[in-house]
Amino acid sequence: MTTTEKVQALQSDLAARVYDGPGGYTGVEAGEEWAAEVRRLAEARDAVILAHNYQMPAIQDIADHVGDSLALARAAANATEQTIVFCGVHFMAESAKILGPEKTVLIPDERAGCSLADSITADDLRAWKAEYPDAVVVSYVNTTAEVKALTDVCCTSSNAVEVVQSIDPDREVLFLPDQFLGQHVKRETGRENMQIWAGECHVHAGINGEELTRQVSDNPDAELFVHPECGCATSALYLASDGTVADDKLKILSTGGMLDQAHATGAKKVLVATEVGMLYQLRKAAPEVDFQAVNDQASCPYMKMITPAALLRSLAVGGDEVHVAPDIVEAARGSVERMVAIGNPGTGE
Ligand code: SF4
Repeated sequence: MTTTEKVQALQSDLAARVYDGPGGYTGVEAGEEWAAEVRRLAEARDAVILAHNYQMPAIQDIADHVGDSLALARAAANATEQTIVFCGVHFMAESAKILGPEKTVLIPDERAGCSLADSITADDLRAWKAEYPDAVVVSYVNTTAEVKALTDVCCTSSNAVEVVQSIDPDREVLFLPDQFLGQHVKRETGRENMQIWAGECHVHAGINGEELTRQVSDNPDAELFVHPECGCATSALYLASDGTVADDKLKILSTGGMLDQAHATGAKKVLVATEVGMLYQLRKAAPEVDFQAVNDQASCPYMKMITPAALLRSLAVGGDEVHVAPDIVEAARGSVERMVAIGNPGTGE
């Protein structure tokens, strides 16, 4: 294809209707015309579309791969296409760029950040490391590329306990950024010399113990799926230990683990403590099970910024391109590659 032909292929009357409204890109709704145009533009751009489990259903349905952040990092690393369109939040698209710096990585709206990743900056981490110069830094995957570049080991929610256990017991551990995951790891390992950053995801923090207690007493036969980054994980374990939730009914799971358990559960009803976008995947995976959110308001506004209009615009104009400085790619790649190699599929957010 000549350059002129390529430019013509990327022209789109439908994409010309997209405009930037107060809540993000809008002007075009999902539908058959939209889906056909997205597929046509993706082919013209030699692009693969990746979508996180928390994306809206239309975006999940049009994507080539749907999964959690780790599964998508793997899909990005293995992609043969020249362009990766990452329908998720910014730190996830950065991980794709770190794993494939020669690829063009696009995020349909670069304003899609993450309150958890934003809870610690590279300067914060430098200052923290200066206080504990001999400490080993363990970062959960929800961190910016700059923070990953200052990290010794990157972990997922399912291998965080093993990662911390594998560290010399005499070395101090700095764990970041999620305080709830940190508390979970500290409790499981019994480790005293572990400092935990006081970060949180405002969506997960909104799923609280009070809500959970009410739901559990209203649905005594239901199973309970809890995501370890949720603010309710501590109270869920407490409820389990005092007999309010039977041990065999409580499942502390990553988002990928939830999908596996959806196939395996014998329960008729399951209460789900994580972002509500996950319900779409769970209901698709096991339509015979009644999945209900512990908090149906737990919707991530950043994830929902990737609208159908934003995806169409992204493919038409080649935006928003994700850039990570070469020295940051170099410094962060080791910890990200280790995480991708170690973690089981479906073990990140
Ligand atoms: S749900 Fe929370 S942790 Fe996940 S992307 Fe949104 S703000 Fe970040």
